[in-house]
Amino acid sequence: MMKSFIEVDPKSHFPIQNLPYGVFRPLMMGGPRIGVAIGDYVLDLSVLDAEGYFDGTDVDGKGVFEQASLNEFMALGTKTWRDVRSRIQQLLHEDESILRDNYALRDIALIPQKNVKMLLPAQIGDYTDFYASKEHATNVGIMFRGKENALMPNWTHLPVGYHGRASSVVLSGTDVRRPQGQTKPANSNAPLFGPSCQLDLELEVGWFIGPGNERGKSIALENAEEQIFGLVLVNDWSARDIQSWEYQPLGPFLAKSFATSISPWVVPLEALEPFRIAGPDQEPEPLPYLRTNKPSSFDIHLEVNLQGEGMKNSKTISTSNFRYLYWSMAQQIAHHTVGGCNLRPGDLLASGTISGPEKEMRGSLLELTWRGTEPIEIENGEQRVWLEDGDQLTITGWCQGEGYRIGFGEVTGRVLPALKQSYTLSHI
Ligand code: CA
Repeated sequence: MMKSFIEVDPKSHFPIQNLPYGVFRPLMMGGPRIGVAIGDYVLDLSVLDAEGYFDGTDVDGKGVFEQASLNEFMALGTKTWRDVRSRIQQLLHEDESILRDNYALRDIALIPQKNVKMLLPAQIGDYTDFYASKEHATNVGIMFRGKENALMPNWTHLPVGYHGRASSVVLSGTDVRRPQGQTKPANSNAPLFGPSCQLDLELEVGWFIGPGNERGKSIALENAEEQIFGLVLVNDWSARDIQSWEYQPLGPFLAKSFATSISPWVVPLEALEPFRIAGPDQEPEPLPYLRTNKPSSFDIHLEVNLQGEGMKNSKTISTSNFRYLYWSMAQQIAHHTVGGCNLRPGDLLASGTISGPEKEMRGSLLELTWRGTEPIEIENGEQRVWLEDGDQLTITGWCQGEGYRIGFGEVTGRVLPALKQSYTLSHI
C-alpha cells in the first residue's frame, strides 16, 4: 500500500491515496492559494509550483495554484489533473527524498490544517440540483401526491433536475439563517407570511465541472466522466412548508435558494476509482444517449449528524450511501447538456437527496419523520421533527479501503433564528 512520509492515521480522511484540492488562506499571513490535504496538513501547491516542481506539466508557470479558486485548474482537463496528481503523490511518497528531507521546504509548503482558513473551492457560475435517488423521489412523491402518483411518469426516463442558485452556495462552517416566506398550512384558507416552521436538510453529493462544453454542443455519456473534476459533500437546506405551497408548476424557488452548504475539500474522481461499482439496475432501459454498461457509481458511505444547542454529543440521524443513486453523475451530465446547454469550469452539479432502501438511510428530515408525523429521538428524550434554531448539522462521508479511507471531510452548519423584524420594518 502506498504511504507518505507524513504520518496519516488509518481513520484519517486524507491519506496519500486521496489528495483532495482546496482553496485556503494561512491564518498567519498571505493571500488565498491552492493546496491538497494530507493527514493533518495542507500541502501548499503554490509553493511547489514556484519551486519548479510542476516542471513538465501543463500548470507550469501559469500560476494556477496562486489563485482564490480552482476554476483555472479545473479548466485544464483530465490529462493535466492526472499529471499534477501523480507528481504530488510522488513528492509525498515515503521513498522520495526531495520534499521529505528538505526541511526548509517542508516548513513553508506543509501547513497544519488548524492554521489555515478554508475558502470556497471554486467561483461557481451555475449550480444545478438533480433528484437522482429513486427512494427519495418515491418517498417525497408519496407524501406530496399519494402512493398512486409517487413517481412522475418522466422520472425513470430522465434525470430530473432544476437550476439552483449559485449565489447562496456557502462553505462548511457558515451559519444558515432560517428563511422567511409564504406558507399555506392545511388549516388556513389564505397564505401566511413568516419564518419557515419546517426547516430541513438534504444529504447530497456534488461535483465540479472541468473544461465543460460549447453552447449548442453536448457531452456524450462516454465522455461525461472526463468533465468531473472532483466531488464534495452538499447540504441543500430546504424549507418544506414554503416548498409545498410554491413548488407547482415550476419546482422549488425560495424553499431552496436561501443556502446550500458544501465541504471545502474536492476529492478527485481518480481517487474514487478503487470504489467504483455498478449503480441500481435501470428499468425501463433509458434512451440510447443515457445508456451504458460501464459501472458508474461509487461506494461512498455517508452520515448525517445533528447536535442541538444543549446537547453534549451529536447524534447520527441518517446513514446512507452514494451507491443508491439511480442516475449516475455521467448520465446527469449527458442529460444536462443534450439540449445544448453549456457547462463551464467551476459549475456545481448536485445529486439531490441520497436516500437508501431502509428507514435509517433517508437523507432528509422530511422522510425520516415522514413529513413531521414520526418524530425522531436525538438525546435524553429530546426529539426532532424539523430543524430548530441552534441545531448544528454535519454531513460526513468516506470510502473505506483496506487500512485507509478516501474521506470527504465534512460539511457543517448551524441554524440561526429568522430575522423576524425584517418584513414588519419594511411596512412601517
Ligand atoms: Ca436538493
